[in-house]
Amino acid sequence: MRRKLAAGNWKMNGTAATLSELDALQDAATGAAEVLICPPATLIAQAVARAGRIAIGAQDCHSDASGAHTGDVSADMLKDAGATCVILGHSERRADHGETNAQVADKTRAAWGAGLTAIVCVGETLAEREAGQTIDLVRTQLAGSLPDAVSGANTVIAYEPVWAIGTGKVPTTDQIAEVHGFLREALTARFGKDTAGAIRLLYGGSVKASNAAEIFAVADVDGALVGGASLTAADFAPIVNALN
Ligand code: PGA
Repeated sequence: MRRKLAAGNWKMNGTAATLSELDALQDAATGAAEVLICPPATLIAQAVARAGRIAIGAQDCHSDASGAHTGDVSADMLKDAGATCVILGHSERRADHGETNAQVADKTRAAWGAGLTAIVCVGETLAEREAGQTIDLVRTQLAGSLPDAVSGANTVIAYEPVWAIGTGKVPTTDQIAEVHGFLREALTARFGKDTAGAIRLLYGGSVKASNAAEIFAVADVDGALVGGASLTAADFAPIVNALN
């Protein structure tokens, strides 16, 4: 059985004062679903200190363990700060920093090496969807971003259509089902049924309290990666509760 996961991605938002949202989220975190918040790196250690039942993750890591990489943070450093997971290959990193599938795979190896779970993101742009390339694109990203030693414990996949992120636009449940079904199939073909069946598949992109239940009812959706609606407990708790 895959444990449902409600993951919040705070992106480049939040200061120490924002961490009071973690206190307000504790009740929702008593349910069956795992609750994860990924604050900016500056807040990870403080967030861990008051996380309670909430897991704390990061939003990126470097592929090297240490060295001359000004401004970067390694997976070992995130682990040392108390993170348990790291989001990798988010479309904003692929767009802002030109991250390639091969780099995401290297970062995934680094995350595993540090004992972190990698949340690997894939998803098409609007132009790719309109050109009928969604499945091909997701196939290429998945194949190129995942090293071979995948397990249900060390990897989560997030399907995040770029055009749905922060836009209020959400794919139809049929469109989500098509991609999640494909992801499960592709994972099964490469890693076998047991491993593929243990990997959680999250949907991300404009998830809110008002659409969460409908999205969570889709086959092979094991939870959500939530941006804007994870910034306050008032918005995020109802999404967590829709999974509980
Ligand atoms: P959003 O972001 O929920 O604000 O659309 C999702 C994400 O980028 O992870």
